[in-house]
Amino acid sequence: MLCKVGNIEVWRILEINGPFLRPEELYPTAGPDVAEIVESHAPGSVCCHSGRLILPIQGFLLKTPTHTILVDSCVGNDKTVPGVPDWHQRSDSRFEASLSAAGVGFEDIDYVLCTHLHTDHVGWNTRLMDGRWIPTFPNARYLMPAADEQVHRLRNGDMYLESVLPVVEAGQAELVQAGHMLGDHVSLMPTPGHTPGHVSIMVKSGKHEAMITGDALHSTAQCWYPDWHFKYDADAEMAVTSRIQLLEAAAEKDCVVLGSHFSLPSIGRVKAELGAFRWHGQS
Ligand SMILES: [Zn+2]
Repeated sequence: MLCKVGNIEVWRILEINGPFLRPEELYPTAGPDVAEIVESHAPGSVCCHSGRLILPIQGFLLKTPTHTILVDSCVGNDKTVPGVPDWHQRSDSRFEASLSAAGVGFEDIDYVLCTHLHTDHVGWNTRLMDGRWIPTFPNARYLMPAADEQVHRLRNGDMYLESVLPVVEAGQAELVQAGHMLGDHVSLMPTPGHTPGHVSIMVKSGKHEAMITGDALHSTAQCWYPDWHFKYDADAEMAVTSRIQLLEAAAEKDCVVLGSHFSLPSIGRVKAELGAFRWHGQS
């Protein structure tokens, strides 16, 4: 188990932990020293051989008293992602093994919660069976941001056709707005910008709270530099505004923060400091 939030168990469901792109590519407005800055604030996060940012691809499993909830479903197997060779047509058992380690099988998931509809967050929504994409979690409702679904329905690309549309056609998708509550413990906090409908997740049990960032941030260095633009933000300025609001909320609540793409173990707290923010990692 990664941690407990009151009486809710949180488990890391890790699929990949490897180099992605170089910080200079990911943060184009951050200046020529960005790799050194990232490495100084997140030691070990820049691969010393390739210079690329090491990015975990992971979901988080929440076991509440009433529901078993998977937040984000990673890249998946057999998916079409030619732009990222490490993600393209994978065949790997690590995701399923992580679920098993948490004592959970595909049929046990009650809800799949997608922070946004990008390839590395929706992949295990479906799996390929006899040449057809079927929902991986037969008993789950899948909650997806309506604004993202609308964009991708029109675009009709591989991600939508392989990982979203089969869930919609199976009648298991619920298109939701930010602010949506899932039971008594989980709510969707609007953090648009990375995608139009992007949400971060608040988990609450008694006086204990935790926040799952999704892709509002990708490195803890962005606590110090929330104004950096990120290569894959759909609306970079809106993403900056959302990032600062998320950091302010995290610092004010002094809650546990789980960074979806933060260097492992991806858990800590945010402190406000001299008009900026600081990350306190938890080992
Ligand atoms: Zn991502």
